Amino acid sequence: MGKVNSIQTLGALDGPGVRFVVFLQGCNLRCGCCHNPDTWEIGVGTEYTALEIADKCERFKEYFGDKGGITISGGEPLLQAEFCLEVFRECHKKGINTCLDTSGSILNDSVKALLEETDTVLLDIKYTNDDDYKKYVGCGIKTPLEFLDYLSQKNIPTVLRQVIIPTLNDNEENILRLKEIRDNHKNIVKTEFLPFKKLCSVKYEKLGIDFKFKCIPEPTKKQIEYLEQKYKE
Ligand code: SF4
Repeated sequence: MGKVNSIQTLGALDGPGVRFVVFLQGCNLRCGCCHNPDTWEIGVGTEYTALEIADKCERFKEYFGDKGGITISGGEPLLQAEFCLEVFRECHKKGINTCLDTSGSILNDSVKALLEETDTVLLDIKYTNDDDYKKYVGCGIKTPLEFLDYLSQKNIPTVLRQVIIPTLNDNEENILRLKEIRDNHKNIVKTEFLPFKKLCSVKYEKLGIDFKFKCIPEPTKKQIEYLEQKYKE
């Protein structure tokens, strides 16, 4: 049984093509920019079996086209790696492509087994230095980088994702370090810069949790484009 926060039946933002996105409940981190604080609590959520998820997903198969399929996101899906593995196995039996959206903060045998059934990984690299990771995420940068090394060894197609947060990582040094990371890992097929958003403030208020980044402005489209250009150079 897996603990699920919510399901988005047809998503276009979390992985290649059109996808059935399952947001799992529970997270081991506490990112300052998190827009899903409702997924943090471990041990709650709606219970599903792997087959129930795969069957539900299969109903949308005609919309997936060549590239689409299932994405498991969170929360942190690696906390329920065994469940994710079962879901991906069932999906593969049905000919459905699998994608995992993760912070890469856990790498154990269950996670390694899960990666064997994962077609694409969306890896959220939150910052490019250890201090910011420790201050604003809750783990060091070493684990996500080791996770990425492992993906590279296994040659698993990986999309790097970074939320651009003004004053914290919207600078050229960060972009240069990110480029270095990309150049050292040939499995990286794409990089996406996502704008930091504050729509989630309402969720924080409702939950009575302090939104640490509430005073940080959202980036403009121009800022993102500038950083994308720097990343390409
Ligand atoms: S890893 Fe994801 S779900 Fe967990 S706190 Fe960070 S942004 Fe939120």
